[in-house]
Amino acid sequence: MSVVTIAREGEIAVVAVNNPPVNALGQMLRQGLWDTVGALDADPSVRAVVLICEGRTFIAGADVTEFGKPPVPPHLPDLVDHIEGAAKPWFAAIHGSALGGGFEIAMGCRFRIALDSASVGLPEVGLGIVPGASGTVRTPRLAGVEAAVDLVTSGKPVKAAKAAALGLVDAVVMGDLRSEAVAFARAALGRPLPLPLSRRPVETPGPGFWERQEKAISKRARGEAAPLRALACLRKAVEADFSDAMAFERATFLELRSSEQAAALRHVFFAERAAGRPSHLAAAEPLPIRLAGVVGGGTMGAGIAVALLDAGLPVVLVERDGEAVERGLANIRNVYDGAVKRGRMTPDTAAERLSVVTGKTDYAALADADLVIEAVFEEIGVKRAVFAELGRICRPEAVLATNTSYLDPRLIAEGLPNPERFIGLHFFSPANVMKLLEIVPVPETAPAVVATGFALGRMLGKIPVQAGICEGFIGNRILKRYRASAEALVRQGVAIDAIDGAMRAYGFAMGPFEAQDLGGLDIAFLQREGARAAGQDVPETLGDILVRAGRKGQKTGGGWYDYALGDRTPQPSTAVAELLSSQISGEADMSVVEIAESLVGEMAEEGAAILSEGVARQASDIDVVEIHGYGFPRWRGGPMFATRSK
Ligand code: NAD
Repeated sequence: MSVVTIAREGEIAVVAVNNPPVNALGQMLRQGLWDTVGALDADPSVRAVVLICEGRTFIAGADVTEFGKPPVPPHLPDLVDHIEGAAKPWFAAIHGSALGGGFEIAMGCRFRIALDSASVGLPEVGLGIVPGASGTVRTPRLAGVEAAVDLVTSGKPVKAAKAAALGLVDAVVMGDLRSEAVAFARAALGRPLPLPLSRRPVETPGPGFWERQEKAISKRARGEAAPLRALACLRKAVEADFSDAMAFERATFLELRSSEQAAALRHVFFAERAAGRPSHLAAAEPLPIRLAGVVGGGTMGAGIAVALLDAGLPVVLVERDGEAVERGLANIRNVYDGAVKRGRMTPDTAAERLSVVTGKTDYAALADADLVIEAVFEEIGVKRAVFAELGRICRPEAVLATNTSYLDPRLIAEGLPNPERFIGLHFFSPANVMKLLEIVPVPETAPAVVATGFALGRMLGKIPVQAGICEGFIGNRILKRYRASAEALVRQGVAIDAIDGAMRAYGFAMGPFEAQDLGGLDIAFLQREGARAAGQDVPETLGDILVRAGRKGQKTGGGWYDYALGDRTPQPSTAVAELLSSQISGEADMSVVEIAESLVGEMAEEGAAILSEGVARQASDIDVVEIHGYGFPRWRGGPMFATRSK
């Protein structure tokens, strides 16, 4: 079957693209469109062309199977020019997403008509490159420089209504896109046509604009190259003529495409896909989830409930007593109040979501739930009591999940009737925001239940990764090694702020010590104390010394650093230097790069152990965990990728 077909609506030709699943711009489609331009130009009965796509989306971007391979003609920039230069005007009819090359094709068209549910965008910077087919040159001519800078340097798509307000699309329609677009084209033919984008003038921004943008973007990008390079292309588009700007964009695109950062970002792109669609579960059918339960409405339970509500699931929240139920519901309300206050959600949407959560003290309310997630205190006795109740009340096929961070899920599941429906679903705080979801089956867990964990993850917009059982699963186990290794550097005489600075320079938002100060040192301390009380040999950490001296982090006015009242800026602390002086035995002099390489190397070594034990199914899963759960810079590709032998 052809990827491009032509139908007629009188003097208007309707060109339909059909290249499932997402109408990606592979060579066949490029060639098909190229040939269509010629065929329709040669047909005197055609006055205009509507370009529309079959399936769930407009052209959603490049063909990922061509990533990293030498480009094959017709090249996309030429195709966009070819469409723009056609003798008959083309009209893009957009549904789903017009992304990257898809939006560039739409910009080659004389008009863009979008369905109200559609979105458009230029996400290339997310792959470490810049748009390669005039995205940086045509967008400022279409929507002005400011909108173009936002669209191109953020990589974030915009919804149809906003796209129309910015001038990225000409009309937003509802109902039948094909007939709306044909009607639009017919009406447009009665009026003089606008100039093609390549011939439109581009406005010059006010003084200081580029410098301000550069500053803001470098701060945000933290070492990521593509956003700044995209800005340089946009500047060129304003300051040079069209063809020079195109040449500049092309050169930048080609250079970045073979860069280490682009390789890393492509790796992450494929790693996320591989993590979320595990081949070993291909035959397992996920169970339906229509009603969810959450036990425990503290930090995690409330966040998990919000994540479920946001995905459209009604939630029953069970707590210990009436007061705790009220507190749990208030925790959930607070999240929505915050979202409304920040303008991220309308009050109506917030009210709608809140209307389907009920708080209960009686487990009987969970009798009809398809899935229950436990998020009570991290104590084996408490959790076991909860699952004993769940085992009694819930339907035998209901999925029962624990959000434990460190306890052994096998011990939690002990004695549970139908243990094949038990699973660990490890969310990260704040659970409604953080993308990572570790999925931890026990030996008895049925494949359909593991598949349900993955399906739930996708439903909640998370990145699910399967992890095996060990202390801390994948992520917290590497975190422990990372922190211990950072402490080891301090013992060797490397300054605390030098370590944090090095990890920031590497691309983390925060170094290991300032992050602990923010989250509090006491949780990990209590955990170590618990292990010690249980007879385990847990060596004294530097963190233990600080907590014993009352330094639990920002909340106590100091941890690894001092903090002035009401100020979150970490200040190196003489008190800490004194407390730790007897522990420091060297005067190591390490460069910023050496520090980062050493700590990332330690993470990767732990990762290798995790892999060899089968706790992670593939090295790329470890990278996904670190990126989505622990702030590892995406453009470095994760610890396993960053330390791979090249
Ligand atoms: P939390 O103390 O904020 O909340 C625990 C809640 O459970 C409290 O509201 C408490 O009233 C309730 N609870 C206790 N016993 C109960 C029972 N028998 N029935 C019903 N409710 C009960 O704790 P948290 O930080 O939300 O952690 C909950 C779980 O999530 C723990 O297992 C923890 O290890 C795990 N976890 C925490 C984080 C984190 O960053 N806080 C991250 C991932 C996982």
